Amino acid sequence: MNPAGDLALIDAFEKIRSFLLETDPGLQATVLAPLQKTAMWAEQPPAEYAEAFLGVVLGIDRQTAAGRRMVREHLRNLRNQPEPSGTGSASEGEPPMPHRALFKTGRREAFLKKNSKVLAESLRRLLPDGNGRFALVDALAGAPTLREAVALLRKMLPLLGGLRAFEFLAQIRYPVVVPDGARQRFYQRVGWVGEVVSAAAHPQEFFEVSERIVHLTGEPLSTVNAVVGLFSGSRDMRTAGGDSAAVCVGRPRCPSCVLKTQCSFYRYRGEPKTNATRAIKTLAVAEQPRTRFETLGPSNLSEIELLALIIRTGAEGKSSLDLAREILARFGSLEALSRAGLGELCQIKGVGRAKAIEIQAALELGRRLQAGGGMAIGAAVRRSGDLFALYRGLLAHEQQESFYLIVLNARNRIQKHFLISRGTLTGSLVHPREVMKAAVKEAAAAIAFIHNHPSGDPDPSEDDREITDRLVQAARLFGIRVLDHVIIGRDNYFSFADHNLLHEG
Ligand code: SF4
Repeated sequence: MNPAGDLALIDAFEKIRSFLLETDPGLQATVLAPLQKTAMWAEQPPAEYAEAFLGVVLGIDRQTAAGRRMVREHLRNLRNQPEPSGTGSASEGEPPMPHRALFKTGRREAFLKKNSKVLAESLRRLLPDGNGRFALVDALAGAPTLREAVALLRKMLPLLGGLRAFEFLAQIRYPVVVPDGARQRFYQRVGWVGEVVSAAAHPQEFFEVSERIVHLTGEPLSTVNAVVGLFSGSRDMRTAGGDSAAVCVGRPRCPSCVLKTQCSFYRYRGEPKTNATRAIKTLAVAEQPRTRFETLGPSNLSEIELLALIIRTGAEGKSSLDLAREILARFGSLEALSRAGLGELCQIKGVGRAKAIEIQAALELGRRLQAGGGMAIGAAVRRSGDLFALYRGLLAHEQQESFYLIVLNARNRIQKHFLISRGTLTGSLVHPREVMKAAVKEAAAAIAFIHNHPSGDPDPSEDDREITDRLVQAARLFGIRVLDHVIIGRDNYFSFADHNLLHEG
């Protein structure tokens, strides 16, 4: 690859890695993995090699607790087999059942029966010998290239044909990029490799590019494997990434792809004409936002997924997830989105008036819940920042000045709050007598005041200072402590207590 190609390769890799981190910060540990010790794969606990082998050969996902249990049970059963009288399977001469068929049809038991002896023999080879040496580890350590490591592995463990050898290596954390269909399809689409006949047919070119990325970026192969696996929706990375990270999948989500400008597929074919509803349906059921909402709970969904659930459908060539991602990217944050007007939302292709209203209605509900009482009542107030955090959602976006009385008990917990006035704050709108009447009626041990400045600047006006002095004076007459008067701006606040301004006139 020429230097220009090298630069494009580095650029593309960094773009997809940044995209993954922005989409789901939870992927940090996977896509920013520190440089692995090269010998990590050689330092696994003894049972790990056998369990990884069995999981791959039997097509069992060991990332789930049930899968791990199943593998261990099979391992126990196989280790209790009698010593084989010779090598080979019970039905010598018959080829082992193909892995994919085994996976798809669930004929695992039949496979186990047919290959029990060769499986038991393979497991014996994965145990340390009398001197504590692992034949597998020694063989892999002596292999100068990945190609030779795979050949040695297949000689020792004949059931590791096709992609299974790579899957096994990835599971024991040997540095390898799994050349599965999803990753190869992605490499081909962006133009890093030529036409690929089938996933296992020509992995050489694929390995050369993967090793080139390692050489250029200094990242370990395992990180390259994780990044391209997540982006291309590879089966082995799905549990780690959820669906929002997988973009270059069967029906590629080109409209929101960060590689559009350098992708051969996109350059020649343009945006694929996909039906948005079908695009979501192409995701595995477990990865669809609605299923994830039901199984994991709303707090475990990303902002993109929650927004996708609100808008329900996408637009031509965009799934609801694509459209949600685009909306959030346009405004930069949820908070900025909550300030957007209907007109601004409707400027996004695929967002009509109905969708824009749905988004604004959902955000308004969230805003009301945040400070409409439910979250503030019962909360403890220890400092001015607590009041700001509790009432910011209610007041920061108000278009008019609103003045609230906060009633607290002896332990400074909020009992109630009352809207005293709405409109320009002047002495004629906030009457100390009325305010104290409400405080006394609620048997307040302490009170606080809070109001907003729609201009966004929280600095107190002369009226604000004067009203505060009169309220503090009135509270003293009734023997009620005034904790604070907080003015909320757009993203900041002013506290009279913090500025030592709670004195009487
Ligand atoms: S532009 Fe489309 S085809 Fe190309 S890498 Fe992105 S999602 Fe895949």
